[in-house]
Amino acid sequence: MSTTERPRSSDFIREIVADDRAHGRWDGRVVTRFPPEPNGYLHIGHAKSICLNFGVAAEFDGHCNLRFDDTNPTKEETRFVEAIQDDVRWLGWNWGDRVYYASDYFDQLYAWAEQLIRDGKAYVDDQTGDEIRENRGTLTDPGRESPFRDRSVDENLDLFRKMREGAFEEGERVLRARIDMAAPNLNLRDPVMYRILKQSHHRTGDAWCIYPMYDFTHGQSDSIEDVTHSLCDTGFEDHRPLYDWYLDELGVYHPQQIEFARLNLSHTVLSKRRLRALVERGDVAGWDDPRMPTLSGLRRRGYTPESIREFCARIGVAKRENVVEIQLLEHCLREDLNRRAPRAMAVLDPIRVVIENYPEDRTEQMEAVNNPEDASAGTRQVPFSRELYLERDDFMEDPPRKFFRLAPGREVRLRYAYFVTCTDVVKNDDGEIVELRCTYDPKTRGGDAPDGRKVKGTLHWVSVRHAVDAEIRMYDHLFNVPEPEEGDYLQHLNPDSLVVRRGCKVEPALAAAAPGSRFQFERQGYFCVDPDGADGAPVFNRTVALRDSWSKIKKK
Ligand code: ATP
Ligand code: MG
Repeated sequence: MSTTERPRSSDFIREIVADDRAHGRWDGRVVTRFPPEPNGYLHIGHAKSICLNFGVAAEFDGHCNLRFDDTNPTKEETRFVEAIQDDVRWLGWNWGDRVYYASDYFDQLYAWAEQLIRDGKAYVDDQTGDEIRENRGTLTDPGRESPFRDRSVDENLDLFRKMREGAFEEGERVLRARIDMAAPNLNLRDPVMYRILKQSHHRTGDAWCIYPMYDFTHGQSDSIEDVTHSLCDTGFEDHRPLYDWYLDELGVYHPQQIEFARLNLSHTVLSKRRLRALVERGDVAGWDDPRMPTLSGLRRRGYTPESIREFCARIGVAKRENVVEIQLLEHCLREDLNRRAPRAMAVLDPIRVVIENYPEDRTEQMEAVNNPEDASAGTRQVPFSRELYLERDDFMEDPPRKFFRLAPGREVRLRYAYFVTCTDVVKNDDGEIVELRCTYDPKTRGGDAPDGRKVKGTLHWVSVRHAVDAEIRMYDHLFNVPEPEEGDYLQHLNPDSLVVRRGCKVEPALAAAAPGSRFQFERQGYFCVDPDGADGAPVFNRTVALRDSWSKIKKK
């Protein structure tokens, strides 16, 4: 963990863990796990769980396992396993050699299933999936017992082994726990333990044609790994009695499941199913599209792992679900980037300016501060010459009183360079402004006047002769309403979530910036080099604008 992070405040889970340690429960051990299903990429919601599980383990001298919950071969792929590991590592967490797969436990789980059959606690059901669903009952009505519920142990063992050998087709039979069809908690109404899936698994290949259900896998995996505190989201609260039932009936080591509220974030969706739909429909360019709330998308956008960890620390951990404003995430990012992103000058919408009294063949190297927040970042040389690009909207021909930038007859400071005064405006036949004419005051080199006269505006610029062309991708929220999941989320996609700007002009040093490098473009925001750019023709993603709307929201 980085030392720049503030000390964690406690939460109800950390209190439970501290209390357990104080009372010698679990022999003082703390073992957690992060259990992703490798059926998609991790998103910012997963980051909350990762920071909680790895964070608690680190704070209490324990350890956290990375466990792939890979019980569903139809949706799981090796590429997701790899991407998930990259993302957890990128966030700054380390599982050492403790990477596990639920599929490594298939033999043990199978043996446990036979054990429950032998104990009369599990049976093979011949009902179809629809029949099982129909007979499950409702919250107000009890379910109906299966006509196959009272099969003998021998018959059940025989049928279950045949299931395993592939004697039946998918959907023909399942193995169910024999609990209580009238239980008020529907999860206890003889839940399915195993189903037939004649599918290759990304790790076990064709070794199995029956696969354990999540509920029959998760607690036992925790048990095998000697987990102490099994932290999951409140979606599993109703599954806890089943988690406990399996472990109790099997008579094995029994960790404690504790639920916390999932993260919901405004202006986006945090469900792999919905995110996958966006990828498959082509609404975004892929799982790592910089608009996606995936960790790979956020990384490509220019997010730092530190800012995401800080965000997770600030939102805290509680039982009650709420929606966190995406502006808080952006605020954490700005705070971090402000400290460490080197500054650069880039003109996004250029207009050419000629400084008439500046020698045509002269180039001066102006000294520019790399980061006013960090003296150790030093300075760099930025070339200045007679022709410059300025931002088109830094000029107005007929400005209102409060416009402190460039206008005919007005003087402004060019950052790190000179005071210039606009003397003329050049237009094309359509009356559009194509060029500005200025004069400069040679005595203001470095940006201040010896006679003490002040100017109100300071503008960024790029020398025409030295400028590098860049494409800049401007991102906005993926959805244009705060809670897109209310109703049909696809209706709320923001059509302007990506605006591509070509012909932007950046200072020459940026031509060589490596993909992933982050900058503050002065007066514009934070930008990150995208891997799409070719040598000498960089592409930048706008990570976040400079203005911090979160501060305003907080003040209200
Ligand atoms: P999704 O609904 O996005 O597919 P999931 O819960 O099915 O999420 P898993 O791969 O099973 O995805 O999740 C791994 C872990 O991450 C689980 O322990 C789950 O509780 C946690 N998790 C998933 N989404 C969130 C979230 N939004 N906030 C906090 N924890 C989450
Ligand atoms: Mg899941």
